[in-house]
Amino acid sequence: MNAKDNDIRCKTCHSLLAKVDKTGLTILRGGLQATIDGVFRATLVCYRPRCRSLNILNLSTEQRRVEVRASE
Ligand SMILES: [Zn+2]
Repeated sequence: MNAKDNDIRCKTCHSLLAKVDKTGLTILRGGLQATIDGVFRATLVCYRPRCRSLNILNLSTEQRRVEVRASE
């Protein structure tokens, strides 16, 4: 797995929203850093004012796999 595979990008504008590695999902924005692991669903709204797209992530760090599903 290369670094690019670990990037979570907005489905609309492809801005970098988060990264995934063996420790879990990391959201880094400004001075805030959050790392989440386990099996969960996360909803991320793109930070770009002209985008604001909803991105739904289904993550399992046990499987080391992230699936990004398009929202309706
Ligand atoms: Zn976006």
